[in-house]
Amino acid sequence: MSQLVDQYQRKFEYLRLSITDVCNFKCNYCLPDGYHRQHKATFLTLPEIRHLVAGFASMGAKKVRITGGEPSLRRDLCEIIETVKTTPGIEKVAMTTNGYRMARDASHWRQAGLDSINVSMDSLDANMFHQITGENLLHKVMAGIDAAFAAGFNQVKVNTVLMKGLNSHELASFLAWIKPRNIQLRFIELMQTGDNQALFKAHHVSGASIMVQLLAQGWIEKVRQSTDGPARVFCHPGYQGEIGLIMPYESHFCDSCNRLRVSALGRLHLCLFGEQGTQLRPLLQQSGQLPELQQMLLAALATKRPTHLLHQGEVGGTYHLASVGG
Ligand code: SAM
Ligand code: SF4
Repeated sequence: MSQLVDQYQRKFEYLRLSITDVCNFKCNYCLPDGYHRQHKATFLTLPEIRHLVAGFASMGAKKVRITGGEPSLRRDLCEIIETVKTTPGIEKVAMTTNGYRMARDASHWRQAGLDSINVSMDSLDANMFHQITGENLLHKVMAGIDAAFAAGFNQVKVNTVLMKGLNSHELASFLAWIKPRNIQLRFIELMQTGDNQALFKAHHVSGASIMVQLLAQGWIEKVRQSTDGPARVFCHPGYQGEIGLIMPYESHFCDSCNRLRVSALGRLHLCLFGEQGTQLRPLLQQSGQLPELQQMLLAALATKRPTHLLHQGEVGGTYHLASVGG
């Protein structure tokens, strides 16, 4: 069967699968007023997820990231992890979480087959964490990170959005924090979405400015693997931890795009900042629909643009990242 390759010779081995758009946090850049349901549809069921992932795997996908919304709010999360992990062809299952349930559940996720965890933590200061996420739960996320190591995850990835006037002065504290810990700290550059334009203008910090500081302090860039995410990863001989920089505004960011997204309602999104998506759900009801699903994926992929249009201020159909799965 054909592989997931587009007309610019980009190969898509990485599926980011949202399993819910519900979230219990109110991050100021994502859902500042909290989650409000805007549809009556149910989220992808376990059998639909099974057929979807089998379809992607049959065309070369090797890695799946489970995301949301907040994926840990789904009661059948462990079954979902197990289903994805046991799909022939899938080598790696990762998940992005806000950490709310990690202290309680990290060991169950590990047992179900989860290979790696990214947890979002925007500040090391409890008050600032509360201000950014709307929840006074830094202690809980920290306990979750400890629980993940105790459950057998060798490395934990921590996602941090640095914002001018809020947490950007914490760079040095974050570096000190990862010095003795096997944590990959990933600074995600604040992205403009349909909903956060004023916040973006007031608080955006360029990833390039962080990179300049890292290079000046002796950090060295590592070589990318084919299923790696969008981060440029840096290491330092004096640190156990690593730094990842996700810089969507950097020129050529899209050249190495290797991921496709499916929303919790079953829509294929070719780009986080793209179109309204292609509805795949009618083709996920039975495994017998695999050829039609493959055809639909290929047809959609033929229309993938070479780059997003964020520089022109075009954010596509994405109101916030919780809707598509960041
Ligand atoms: N709820 C989970 C979490 O927060 O980790 C998973 C979904 S969340 C949409 C995934 C990642 O997207 C988080 O690390 C979050 O910080 C990031 N994110 C959300 N909106 C963003 C934005 N406008 N700019 C940059 N990163 C954003
Ligand atoms: Fe929820 Fe994650 Fe969005 Fe924060 S970034 S509001 S935790 S979906």
